[in-house]
Amino acid sequence: KETLDKGLEKTKESFFGKLTRSLVGKSRVDEEVLDELEEILISSDVGVNTTLKIIDRINERVSRDKYVGTDELNKVLKEEIAALLSENDSNGPTEYHIPEHNGNPHVIMVVGVNGVGKTTSIGKLANQFKKAGKKVVLGAADTFRAAAVDQLIIWSERVGVPIVQQGMGADPASVAFDALSSAKAQGADVVIIDTAGRLHNKVNLMNELSKIKRVMEKVVPDAPHEILLVLDGSTGQNAFEQAKQFALATSLTGLIITKLDGTAKGGVVIGISDQMSIPVRFIGVGEGIEDLQVFHKEEFVASIFG
Ligand code: GDP
Repeated sequence: KETLDKGLEKTKESFFGKLTRSLVGKSRVDEEVLDELEEILISSDVGVNTTLKIIDRINERVSRDKYVGTDELNKVLKEEIAALLSENDSNGPTEYHIPEHNGNPHVIMVVGVNGVGKTTSIGKLANQFKKAGKKVVLGAADTFRAAAVDQLIIWSERVGVPIVQQGMGADPASVAFDALSSAKAQGADVVIIDTAGRLHNKVNLMNELSKIKRVMEKVVPDAPHEILLVLDGSTGQNAFEQAKQFALATSLTGLIITKLDGTAKGGVVIGISDQMSIPVRFIGVGEGIEDLQVFHKEEFVASIFG
């Protein structure tokens, strides 16, 4: 909770801080207050559609309750945003649960463009699973960049989990096949496969990802069980665009939104969570190994609105 609050400080300032200042001298929520709220939400990267939905909900609340004082607005906002996120987001407020697959490892494939924090998030995830007593294997199938493989090797050493890699330029599907085979042979609980995400060529990306998936299925019948897209939250609406593009290229099951610390654009999490019917599973709130948290909508909203 403390890490979350600290990580979301800037977003909180852009929401709650601005809102508090704009409410000075006003006692009730009226047109003018709603207009200002709309501006604040849009400028915090919530996105136009989700902002309009939130304003509609507050408007309804105002007409239903006849009078909503500005002192209650914060509470009403928290309730309405959390309710809005719950409608599209089946992900509960629990720890990430690794399901059983008849003795097969749980296979998580991670996608995302360079620089979004993909490798770091994989390292943090591996660390969490390991600390929870799970046997983890990493697969370095982002073979397009030498740095990606090297960085994942460093993370595997840091966390103390085995990695399967064939160096840069290797066939990603072959690495994935090896990683799953090795994980299965070792009786691992979870395999995390790092893949490349070159969005500038969508057809290639689609083909590459579906080839990796086909090959994985040969080792573990229903793999991958999870396809997580990593997005850089500090890029605001860009992250949103990437989510849309990747959703067209493959069947995403969840999102990791990173770098929410040090940005005022954290509102993008609300927009993405509302607009995409893909649950936000984790958020990154710092560079440290512990700074990846399971996304909990009520806590998130509570952190932003103080
Ligand atoms: P990749 O190219 O997507 O694999 O990106 P990396 O994992 O190498 O991360 C790029 C940079 O972002 C690194 O300097 C990371 O330390 C940093 N980073 C990743 N996640 C977070 C986060 O949640 N908060 C902050 N502040 N930095 C992060």
